[in-house]
Amino acid sequence: MRRPLSQGLLACRTLLARLQLRRWTVGPHMLAFLPALTLGGFWLGGESMLLGLALVIPLAYGLVLGAEPPVAGHAEQRAGQDLVSMAVAQDLAAQGFERARAAQMHTACLLFEAEGLETISRRMGEGVAETLRVLFLARLRELLRPEDSAMRIGDSRFMALIAPGLRLDLEALLALADRLQRGLEEPAATDTGVHYLSVAVGFCGSARLRPGAVGADMLDCAQAALREAMDNAPSAIRAWSEGMRAERRARTVLLSEVEAALAKGQIQPWYQPQLCTSTGEISGVEALVRWMHPQHGIVPPSRFLGALHDAGRMDQLTEAVLHHGLSALRGWDEQGLRIPRVSINFSEVELRNPRLVDRLKWDLDRYGMAASRLGIEVLETVIAESPDGIIARNVTALARLGCRVDLDDFGTGHASIAALRRVTVHRLKIDRSFVTRIDRSEDQRRMLAAVLGLADRLGLETVAEGVESSGEHALLAQLGCDHAQGFGIARPMPAPQLAEWAREHAQRIAAAQKLGRRPA
Ligand code: C2E
Ligand code: CA
Ligand code: CA
Repeated sequence: MRRPLSQGLLACRTLLARLQLRRWTVGPHMLAFLPALTLGGFWLGGESMLLGLALVIPLAYGLVLGAEPPVAGHAEQRAGQDLVSMAVAQDLAAQGFERARAAQMHTACLLFEAEGLETISRRMGEGVAETLRVLFLARLRELLRPEDSAMRIGDSRFMALIAPGLRLDLEALLALADRLQRGLEEPAATDTGVHYLSVAVGFCGSARLRPGAVGADMLDCAQAALREAMDNAPSAIRAWSEGMRAERRARTVLLSEVEAALAKGQIQPWYQPQLCTSTGEISGVEALVRWMHPQHGIVPPSRFLGALHDAGRMDQLTEAVLHHGLSALRGWDEQGLRIPRVSINFSEVELRNPRLVDRLKWDLDRYGMAASRLGIEVLETVIAESPDGIIARNVTALARLGCRVDLDDFGTGHASIAALRRVTVHRLKIDRSFVTRIDRSEDQRRMLAAVLGLADRLGLETVAEGVESSGEHALLAQLGCDHAQGFGIARPMPAPQLAEWAREHAQRIAAAQKLGRRPA
């Protein structure tokens, strides 16, 4: 008796689930019909019918709602195995692929990266992150059909395997990825407040794999698509295509080339001067890295920094820039030039290095340089996203050592005033977007004046970047910005040219002083 009954229930639940009716027929909406059902029952069959209904409704409700969906994958995962290893994920994806192939149908593997989870874990603790992971996975399962399966495969990564079907073409999968992404990005309320996570999606449909592909390829390709999505923008969706394979191959080549270039010393900084707006004198130089490529000439950092970052080589890059910068400074000193400081750009990974302060102290000693001759450029976004912990400690320790700290790209990263107070900063480096056309646009001028007013109230110096014209330069001086840097003054150049430029600049200042004019 138990078997046919349980089979009947299973069939009933499967049918409801397939029709996507389960949550309607047994959800809380059902309560709205209770008065009508009881009244109808009483009208039709009197008190005995009413009693019968009172017993049958809760029983049926419990049986249907309490049962698990008839999919083995789901049942196993709900029993606690929510996080699976990559090897298990590979196996499951391969099994799905083979099942679909045997049935002459298609399947797909979708990967989701919850992009803010790592920051939440760092800032608010693992407990909050774990709550969100559980919620996230529950949502994903809720959004999928019961015959699909979903699991967590990393700290912030989730996988969905779509049950075999005939119509899993690119268009259908894109629509599915979009729907799932929107569902997952809904604000998530926990005890600690409401959290907003962006979700990157990468997927691979078995129909898009090249002939002869095996099951394991599907997850690999979905991972490549996800990496592509994450490299692009928050909330990006990318489908695997064979073109991506060529791109990834080119990226691997770039990665090994750029690593070799770093080892061979082909990656070196150029220097761009910064001027004090009141005296016109050089107040420092910024070190900006260039790749002297034997075939392609000068390659800008936008083309290779990402590869160095992915190769985990940012530390070596800074090491090289620091050594070049400090030895250039020593060379300029020896030539009698007055270049007070070299500023170096530090990426987030380096600022997280617990040995950073000791390493810099050691390097400064080696070159016999006072710490005040070294500027540290930290992006506003880095401070905004991690006001506490290791980054704040490192930056503050460097400031205590005597290094000057510039908050780079200021105005683009939304660092709070509180964050600015927690981390020692000496100077705001106002982003080019606030500086451009200040001599021609009243709105732009007002924005810049507001930023300068803020810096003044916080007791911070200012440097404007991206100064392209003498009009902008003159207005910056009028508005009270302390320093200026940009193509309008000079482009970045190698150390020997900078020495030449500094000599000529000193002569220009001397000549202007003789004529009693302020140098431009
Ligand atoms: P950044 O730190 O904001 O550097 C300023 C960028 O603006 C430089 O581009 C510079 O050449 C450019 N620039 C300067 N004046 C002007 C101007 O008047 N107009 C315009 N349109 N651009 C101007 P670059 O050298 O291509 O560097 C780009 C970014 O690469 C830098 O932005 C920095 O974030 C990063 N970078 C450069 N060198 C290093 C390095 O050694 N380490 C790290 N971590 N990042 C670096
Ligand atoms: Ca910079
Ligand atoms: Ca900048």
